[in-house]
Amino acid sequence: MLKKGMKVAVLTGAGISAESGIRTFRAEDGLWEEHRLEDVATPQAWNANPEMVWRFYQARRRQLLEVEVNPAHDALAELEEGFGEDFTLITQNVDDLHERAGSKRFIQMHGELRKLRCEECGHVCEAMEPEQLKDDYVPCSNCSNQRLRPHIVWFDEEPFGRWTCEAAVHDCDVFIVVGTSGHVYPANNLLPIARHTGSYCIGVNLDPPLNVDFFHEFHQGKAGELLPGLVKEWLES
Ligand code: NAD
Ligand code: ZN
Repeated sequence: MLKKGMKVAVLTGAGISAESGIRTFRAEDGLWEEHRLEDVATPQAWNANPEMVWRFYQARRRQLLEVEVNPAHDALAELEEGFGEDFTLITQNVDDLHERAGSKRFIQMHGELRKLRCEECGHVCEAMEPEQLKDDYVPCSNCSNQRLRPHIVWFDEEPFGRWTCEAAVHDCDVFIVVGTSGHVYPANNLLPIARHTGSYCIGVNLDPPLNVDFFHEFHQGKAGELLPGLVKEWLES
């Protein structure tokens, strides 16, 4: 279904990083690293219990130093090389594994663990130095605020680049969705948009996701095992 000159958009979720050792959110027990999402990933949680939320994200940020890309991230970087400007990767993941695999044309719609943001002055900074990865708060280098927040899109917050993502999906000829359960709005709306605007929709996921009926083609299994072969086929077609 993929031919040179076609526009390709890809959406990834936590499942693509599972084989790298980063736990997904919903797969088994509905908990993300022993926490309910509403206890750690909402502005309400940050306001009510900032220390707990901060420690949770500091642990996620430190974990980045221990994990490696897997063949699924590599395969998408190769697919991008093949399609160049006709390729857009949209990820719900807040890890940095797509970037480390060599992906360049990507949007992290739910933010980035590597960065922190000031709620007073809006300053965003890369913050992966050892002293910035401890359980103590990190102060803003641009104003007097002593407590930066994770540069993460929490529930009830507007995703980054939402309209760019929707436009890319609206315009694509082929939409490929990897490793997402289809529970999180508005990311889960991209598949129906693609389908209704005439894109050919391909899914790769360990379990059938919530919106599996929107796919023309669904490959069930691990992304790290399936994607390299699929990408090879797509690049040869
Ligand atoms: P999710 O946890 O809700 O769903 C993950 C999906 O991946 C499941 O359907 C599961 O069957 C599938 N999966 C598990 N292992 C897989 C594998 N090896 N290959 C292919 N599929 C596999 O994830 P989501 O839909 O991305 O939503 C979770 C939310 O939490 C997102 O908003 C995301 O920002 C955040 N989150 C991010 C990370 C990360 O950055 N790595 C990790 C956990 C949660
Ligand atoms: Zn500031």
